[in-house]
Amino acid sequence: VKKMGGNHYRFYDFELEELIKEEQKIENDLYHAIEKNEFKLVYQPIRELATGRNVGTEALIRWTNPLYSKVSPLVLIQIAEQNGLIIEIGRWVLKEACRQNKQWQKEGYSSVIVSVNVSAIQFEQTNFVEMVKEILEETELEPKYLELEITERIAMDRVEEKLLKMKELKSMGVRISIDDFGTGYSSLAYFTRFPIDTLKIDRSFINDMLNDENAKTIVTTIINMAKSIKIKTIAEGVETWEQLEYLKKKSCDQIQGYLISKPVDPHIIVEMFEEEILT
Ligand code: C2E
Ligand code: CA
Ligand code: CA
Ligand code: CA
Repeated sequence: VKKMGGNHYRFYDFELEELIKEEQKIENDLYHAIEKNEFKLVYQPIRELATGRNVGTEALIRWTNPLYSKVSPLVLIQIAEQNGLIIEIGRWVLKEACRQNKQWQKEGYSSVIVSVNVSAIQFEQTNFVEMVKEILEETELEPKYLELEITERIAMDRVEEKLLKMKELKSMGVRISIDDFGTGYSSLAYFTRFPIDTLKIDRSFINDMLNDENAKTIVTTIINMAKSIKIKTIAEGVETWEQLEYLKKKSCDQIQGYLISKPVDPHIIVEMFEEEILT
C-alpha cells in the first residue's frame, strides 16, 4: 500500500483490509468445499475435424456454493495454489474425471479421452505419478483414456525431474498435453525433448487469427511444426464457423470451443459423444 497522503491512504488501507477479509472467507469456505460436496465437474467436447466426431472432453471444475457462483475457476485455483489446497482439490478432480469417464463406458457410450488440468504445484509433488496410478487402479479406467493437461511453465525448471515424471506417465499409457500453448516463452523445438502427445493452441491466437496476420502465422506455424514431429494439435476457444473452416484447411487435428458447446453437465455431454456432425 502506497502512502498517497491523508485520506487516500486511509481509504486505500480500508479497501485492502476488506479485500483480505474477503479472501480469508473464500479460503475458509474452500477448506470445507470438498467434504461438503460443493465441487462438480463440467465437460466440454473436443471434436476431431477429419471425422466430425467428438473424441474427447475436457473436465473443468465448478464451485456450486451459491455464494461463489461468480468466482472464476481460475481464481479458485489460484487461491488453492497459494494455500496448498490444490493438492486435495486436484486429487478430487482427477479421481472424479476418471470415475465419470469409466462410468460412461460402462453405460455403453463410445469411449472418449478425458482431459484433466493439472496445476504445476500438483505435478511437482513427489508422489504425483503414484497418485495417478492409484486413481487409475481404483477407477479401473484404462490409462489411454486419460490425458493430463500441463502448462509450459511446468517444463521450465528442474527439467530432468519433470522429464522423468512425464516418461513414467507415458510408460503407464497416460497421455500428456501442453495447455495454453504459445502464451509462455518456450518454443516448440524445446518440447521435442518431452514426451508430449498434444499441443493445445491458446484461445487468444484463435480469437485473433482471422483479423491479425501475426496470430494467423503463429497458428499455422504451430500446426505445421507439431505435425512434423507427430504431435496432435487442438485449437482452443473456437467460436465461429470461419475459424473452424480455416483450421480445417490448415489441417489442425481437433477443436474445442463455444461453437461446438460450452462446458456442460455429464448427462448432457454424453449425448454429444454419439453425434456425428460432419464439419
Ligand atoms: P483452460 O484450461 O484453458 O480451460 C479452457 C477455458 O476456456 C474454460 O474456462 C472454458 O470454459 C473456456 N472456453 C472454452 N471454449 C471457449 C470459447 O469458445 N470462448 C471462450 N471465451 N472461452 C472458452 P473455465 O472453465 O472458466 O476455466 C478457466 C481456467 O481455470 C482453465 O483454463 C484452467 O486453467 C483452470 N481450471 C479449470 N478447472 C480446473 C481444474 O480442475 N484444475 C486446474 N488445475 N485448473 C482448472
Ligand atoms: Ca485446459
Ligand atoms: Ca487452455
Ligand atoms: Ca487458459
